[in-house]
Amino acid sequence: MLKIQNTLSKKKETFTPIKKSYVGLYTCGPTVYDRAHIGNLRTFVFEDILRRTLEYDGYKVKQVMNITDVEDKIIKRFLKEKKKNISEITKPNTKRFLEDMDELNIEHSEAYPLVTENIDAIISVIKKLIKNGFAYKGDDGSVYFDISKFKKYGKLARIKKVDIKVGARVSADEYGKTEAQDFVLWKSRKGNEPFWKSPFGEGRPGWHIECSALSMKYLGPTFDIHAGGVDLIFPHHDNEIAQSEGATGKKFVNYWVHGEHLLVNGKKMAKSLKNFYTLDDIKKKGFLPIAFRYFTLSAHYRSKLNFTWDALGAAQNTLVNLYREFAYFGFVSNGKKIQTESGEYKKYRKEFLEAVNDDINMPKALSILWRVIGDTLLSGHQKRELLLDFDKVLGLNMGFADELAIPPANVVKLVDQREEKRIHKQFVKADALRDKIEDLEYLIEDTHYGPFVWPKKI
Ligand SMILES: [Zn+2]
Repeated sequence: MLKIQNTLSKKKETFTPIKKSYVGLYTCGPTVYDRAHIGNLRTFVFEDILRRTLEYDGYKVKQVMNITDVEDKIIKRFLKEKKKNISEITKPNTKRFLEDMDELNIEHSEAYPLVTENIDAIISVIKKLIKNGFAYKGDDGSVYFDISKFKKYGKLARIKKVDIKVGARVSADEYGKTEAQDFVLWKSRKGNEPFWKSPFGEGRPGWHIECSALSMKYLGPTFDIHAGGVDLIFPHHDNEIAQSEGATGKKFVNYWVHGEHLLVNGKKMAKSLKNFYTLDDIKKKGFLPIAFRYFTLSAHYRSKLNFTWDALGAAQNTLVNLYREFAYFGFVSNGKKIQTESGEYKKYRKEFLEAVNDDINMPKALSILWRVIGDTLLSGHQKRELLLDFDKVLGLNMGFADELAIPPANVVKLVDQREEKRIHKQFVKADALRDKIEDLEYLIEDTHYGPFVWPKKI
């Protein structure tokens, strides 16, 4: 049974779904004005681990992730770069975002709705809010949410009543805790900005309303889990609660789950500090994207994690060792399928299940994985079966290890020739062939089962 920290209660709670064996999961998606940075990616990896844990527990998950393809930052760029259409900015960034997800072995969501394709759904929620007395049209022609009308406003971030600025309004998409005030639902048309027709006049949606409209459309008025980064708790998630509960009169979300920040060299990521990295930067430095995934698993999702290139390098070395061990176990067990379900085997499965269900404890899950690798009571085949089972949650793509253990044909030929020489005790010639193989960037380890071949560098 999954226990998860609920931001709403600030307690670790036992997860109980609304429907048996099914979980509705909403995860705030990217704003596609630019590439996702590694701080965003840490959150998306964490949400993938959450999703995989639920699937490991036997739930069918319906995950919805919105793609924000119209908001302040996108429009700023659109106007600055004098584009004809905002999709010239948002389309390539959406494509690259989905590629990033694949490279990090993140499972696909069941839906990735675009805001610009769901304006009607957004308008219908705003209409309900006006009808229910939670929204009003300001003198600037925009529609605002009246936070004084929603009695529990700020319950997620625990905003104090005294901090709420009654009557004040904010029309920017992003603002801080000290600016708790009426926020914009529909922005009236301005200059050359893109706009849509609506009963409240031409304009475009504010940022917060999309998640209420899209979660309602795909998951219904009340669903199980809403996840995101801690930076979204206020105002974004509190605004989502106000909008959704104001529109439907029903509880919005049962479990709110938030992942902590990623720091870079001990600092928050900022363009001005030039510590704003993307997955491309990671690849350019010669690292595997999946090594970043392994790196993020080294800390609990509710702890801050400090990114450095050295730490990523260490994570990659550890991951490559893991791949090597996995491939080696396959090599030595060579298809032998013996006594999989021993007591030792069952013990590890139980420990792993408990670790992942204890508020998604990935550092513990990884420590169990490394104990499996070092356990002398388990056979190579059993170790592989356990690692494959754990990988359903970890998503480290263990299958890639077996691909790495298959050298190209020219190397295989040299390995066979060297074996031939060794059988005939022509060790000088065998050593010369080994040197040739090493020149081709492969290493040979002689074992009881024959030569194990592995790339020098990955
Ligand atoms: Zn959202």
